[in-house]
Amino acid sequence: MSRPEIENLVIVGSGPAGYTAAIYAARANLNPLLITGFQDGGIPGGQLMTTTHVENFPGFPDGILGPELMDRMKAQAERWGTTLVLADATEIDLSQRPFQIKADGITHLAQSVILATGASANRLGLPQEERFWSRGISACAICDGATPQFRNQAVAVVGGGDSACEEAVYLTKYGDHVHLIVRSGQLRASKAMADRVLANPAITVHWQRQLVDCSGGDWLEAITLSDTQSGTTEELAVKGLFYAIGHTPNTRLVQGQLEVDSHGYLVTQPGRPETSIEGVFAAGDVADAEWRQGITAAGSGCQAALAAERWLSHHNLAVEVKRQALEPQTVGEPKHTAESDEANYNADALWQKGSYALRKLYHDSDKPLLVVYTSPTCGPCHVLKPQLKRVLEELDGAAQGVEIDIEADQAIAQQAGVTGTPTVQLFFRKELKEQFKGVKQRSAFKAAIESLLPVSV
Ligand SMILES: Cc1cc2nc3c(=O)[nH]c(=O)nc-3n(C[C@H](O)[C@H](O)[C@H](O)COP(=O)(O)OP(=O)(O)OC[C@H]3O[C@@H](n4cnc5c(N)ncnc54)[C@H](O)[C@@H]3O)c2cc1C
Repeated sequence: MSRPEIENLVIVGSGPAGYTAAIYAARANLNPLLITGFQDGGIPGGQLMTTTHVENFPGFPDGILGPELMDRMKAQAERWGTTLVLADATEIDLSQRPFQIKADGITHLAQSVILATGASANRLGLPQEERFWSRGISACAICDGATPQFRNQAVAVVGGGDSACEEAVYLTKYGDHVHLIVRSGQLRASKAMADRVLANPAITVHWQRQLVDCSGGDWLEAITLSDTQSGTTEELAVKGLFYAIGHTPNTRLVQGQLEVDSHGYLVTQPGRPETSIEGVFAAGDVADAEWRQGITAAGSGCQAALAAERWLSHHNLAVEVKRQALEPQTVGEPKHTAESDEANYNADALWQKGSYALRKLYHDSDKPLLVVYTSPTCGPCHVLKPQLKRVLEELDGAAQGVEIDIEADQAIAQQAGVTGTPTVQLFFRKELKEQFKGVKQRSAFKAAIESLLPVSV
C-alpha cells in the first residue's frame, strides 16, 4: 500500500515498547509506520531476542522464549495494519514540523513520533577486545554459548547484575566451569538469581576483580584480572568471555534535540510519555533507567500510542485510515521447518533443515548453497532466517538454503569452523565462497549469490 506524504505517527524501535505502541496506534486507524532497527541499537525485536525463557510476561503461564514472544508481538502489530521498515533510523530531525526521520535512504515526514529505541549492550574497550571479538568474546551468551569452542571449557562472564547471573547459570550447560567476574563485593542481581549463582558448584565468583585485558592466539585463551583493592593482577585461562555489563540508552540520534538525563535516558513528564518536544513521545527502556522490563516497556508503549492519538486529534492532525475488513485475518501459530531425512528430503526445495539435507545438497546440487548455522536460543538467527528465505524466493530457485542447528549437529559446526551464531556460509560446487558472521543486510547475501550465477542476457 502506498504511504501518505506525511505519516500520522512514526515509531522508532521494535522491542516490546515499539510493537505495543504500534498495536494500539494501528487499532486506532492511525496507519503507523514502524522503523524496526537493524544493527545500530540492537536487532529487530529488541533485547528479548537475546534471551531464552521469559517467565514473567503475563499470559504465558509456562513461560515463552524471548524471540517467540517478539514474533507474536510483531505479528499482532502487522495484523492490525502496521507497516514495518526493516532498517535503522539514521537521522531524526525534530527541529521542524512535520518531523523528519531518515531510514534506508528515505526521509519519512511525521506529525508525531514515538521513540522506543531501547538500550544497547555495553562493551569494556579492552586493548585486545577487537582482536578476540567473536573469537572468544561475545556480548550474548544465549546466542553463542552453544558454539563448539566453548564446550567443556572454562569460560568467564563479566558483570554482577541479573543478566550476568542468568548468563553464568546458562553457560554451565555448555562450559566445564564458569568464572563470574564481579567488580564489587556483591551481586546487584535479584536475591533469587544471586542465590542460584552462589549455590551452583560450576560457578566461581571472583569478587572485586576488574578485567584489564585478554590474550591468546587465533582464539581467546586467557583473561587478565586486576584486584580492585590491592592492584595485583592474575591470569585466568578461559576460552570464552561474555559481557553482561549493562546497557546504554539509544538516544544518539536525538542528542541536543530532546532533554536527556545524566546517563543519556530521555526525560519525560513524570509518569507520562511526553518528551520535551510536543508530539514526540518516549516509551520503554530508552526513557526508563529503573524498571527496564518487557512488561513495563509494553505498558509505556501503550501509553505513548494513546498520548500520540490524543495529541494528533487535539491538533486535528490525524488522517485516519479505514480498514477494509473490520476484523483482520487471524495469524495462527508460528510455523517451524521440519528436519529433512530420507523420507521428506526435496532436492528442489528452497529451504531445508539438518545435516541430511546439507550432505545431499552439498554433493548433488549445482546451485549456490547458503548454509546458516543457528542455535535454538539465538535471537539474531531468528531475525536473519526470514531475510535469507526472502533472498532465495527473490532469486526464484536459482539458489538453495539449509539451516544447521549447531546444538543438534555439533560435529558439522566444528568441522565448518563455526565460532558463533548466526554464521552463514555460501558454497558453490563444493567450494566455500564467502562467510558472513552476525546479521547482515539482505542485499549482501543477494549480491554474493548473484555473483556466482551466470549473467542473463
Ligand atoms: C538478557 C536479557 C534478559 C531479559 N529478560 C527479561 C525477562 O525475562 N523479562 C522481562 O520482562 N524483561 C527482560 N529483559 C528486559 C527487557 O528485554 C527490556 O526491558 C525490554 O526489551 C525493553 O524494551 P524496549 O522496547 O524499550 O527496548 P528494546 O527491547 O531494547 O528494543 C529497542 C528497539 O529499538 C531498535 N533501535 C535502536 N536503535 C534504533 C535506530 N537507530 N533505528 C531504529 N530502531 C532502533 C532496536 O533495534 C530494537 O528493536 C531482559 C533483557 C536482557 C538483555
